[in-house]
Amino acid sequence: MSAPSAHDVCVIGGGVTGAGIARDLALRGLSVLLLEKGDWGGGTTGSSSWMIHGGPRYLEFDWDTTRLSCVDAGHIVGIARNMVYRVVFIIPVLPHDKNNIERMETAMEVYDRFQPLKKAHPHVRLTAEEARQAEPGLSPDVIGAVTMEEWGVDPYRLVFANVQDAIAHGARALNHTRVVDLLRDGGKVIGVRYHGSDGSMSEARARVVVNAAGPWVPEISKMAGASVHLRPAKGIHIVYPHRISNFSISAESIDGRDLLMVSHAGFTLLGTTDDDFYGDLDSVDVLEDEVDYLLQAFERVFPSIRAYRPVRTTAGVRPTLFKWRRYEDELSRRYEVIDHSPDGADGFVTIAGGKLSMYRLMAEETSDVVCRKLGHQAPSVTATRPLPGSESELEPAAELGRRFGISALAAMKLQTRQGSNAAAVLEDARSGRIVCRCEPITEAELVHVARHEQVRTLADAFRRVGMAAGSCAGAACVMRAAGIIGHELGWSASQRFDSAREFVRGAWLGRAPILGHSGWAQEELASGSLRGLRN
Ligand SMILES: Cc1cc2nc3c(=O)[nH]c(=O)nc-3n(C[C@H](O)[C@H](O)[C@H](O)COP(=O)(O)OP(=O)(O)OC[C@H]3O[C@@H](n4cnc5c(N)ncnc54)[C@H](O)[C@@H]3O)c2cc1C
Repeated sequence: MSAPSAHDVCVIGGGVTGAGIARDLALRGLSVLLLEKGDWGGGTTGSSSWMIHGGPRYLEFDWDTTRLSCVDAGHIVGIARNMVYRVVFIIPVLPHDKNNIERMETAMEVYDRFQPLKKAHPHVRLTAEEARQAEPGLSPDVIGAVTMEEWGVDPYRLVFANVQDAIAHGARALNHTRVVDLLRDGGKVIGVRYHGSDGSMSEARARVVVNAAGPWVPEISKMAGASVHLRPAKGIHIVYPHRISNFSISAESIDGRDLLMVSHAGFTLLGTTDDDFYGDLDSVDVLEDEVDYLLQAFERVFPSIRAYRPVRTTAGVRPTLFKWRRYEDELSRRYEVIDHSPDGADGFVTIAGGKLSMYRLMAEETSDVVCRKLGHQAPSVTATRPLPGSESELEPAAELGRRFGISALAAMKLQTRQGSNAAAVLEDARSGRIVCRCEPITEAELVHVARHEQVRTLADAFRRVGMAAGSCAGAACVMRAAGIIGHELGWSASQRFDSAREFVRGAWLGRAPILGHSGWAQEELASGSLRGLRN
């Protein structure tokens, strides 16, 4: 084992919360080590609905969460300008819905008071005819609708931008690095023991260790001899590799919950469930029943939903704070920063609960507690300091595309990931060749992320640039991507093949619950083509 490194703070967990804390503390001038056992954003954050929203449904039972989310969403929208986009919902009302159109509009009138906090527009009420004109796929039974505006974001890019800025301000940030134990001096926590991506075991000393492990918070707390009680709640999505509606749409489920079909930039997320979860956090499966529950609800408002072919599912576990005798859907999304000194674990701080939409605020408050413990006086600057790529105005995508010989669409998608660094990415490897026919990702971008963005596996490339996220689900591009990334990382021919096979196997797990007849045929074709390449 190498000699321990020493830092002011070690942050465990590279989801949006941990990455946000690492950035906040690094910008305040502290030396930070950030450790993530998988890849950046690969936990709950990546399995979210990808929305920076206020959550109007919390208004009834968790008013302050809606308010805080809206306030912080306003900050996030300001610092991540290249990453965020408006998501406009149509909320249709059908006969026998729990809310009639008047109730629904009243709720939206209240929510309108919060919308300016996150730079969003107020609602509009639509007649049935107007709603169906805007969204022809809606059921003829719709009796009216209201609109609602939220923000969308690629959470993997949001997390990585935080990691990138933390590194730019002196932090050390390691993915594929698992904390296996905490170093203790009596009760006091003085550092971490971790297992690196190269198989080595190392130790790092830290004056404060922050537990930002999302649903894994209780597991890390136990290492400190402390106890944090969560009520983890599983949620799944069905993913379509394209837009299937003009607007995002909400639907009421059979048990009265509000479900969402979210039209993101070039794909659709349909979700989500919310169920108590008692299983293995490292192996969260999607059940066919859960898929049917979602489709049943949407079929009522959007009758053709079953005609569309999904490409995969996602599953994540919310790190919800513990509460007894509450229906999962009504659990508060509040968060709590816990200094464990009174439990005898000085030097150990936990952040639990919360939402993606207020990650920055959670990070700021956690960092305040850490700074107080260290006697370090420096205010947080993350509410206004732009994230990397958002510092300046973007060049028009068509112009960027022309300069580098790529389509305006490819240039625009690159800008949402890289912002004002897009031109530098294209200059870096000088190849504008597109890797896949269904997602306009350039070879240059793949080379860039392998060189500069800690991509170590093809699944990392899926998260960093959306490689294999399109309708081919990797069948048309995974070997090519393995060749490009493998070249950068020095993989042998068989390592390239193995990495492609590992990616396909991992992706398969998320696809199995939604494979219809044509899906199984495509699976056979994809695995056959990989076998063919091996022979
Ligand atoms: C289905 C679903 C939809 C959601 N949609 C939204 C939404 O649209 N908007 C919104 O605001 N919120 C949403 N949420 C909530 C939001 O996603 C979470 O609150 C947030 O992403 C949690 O982030 P986190 O960083 O705390 O946890 P995580 O993202 O889970 O990060 C914790 C990290 O810790 C790492 N870790 C664990 N143990 C170790 C270890 N021993 N060593 C090193 N690393 C470790 C994990 O690998 C993980 O990456 C949704 C949640 C779910 C489940």
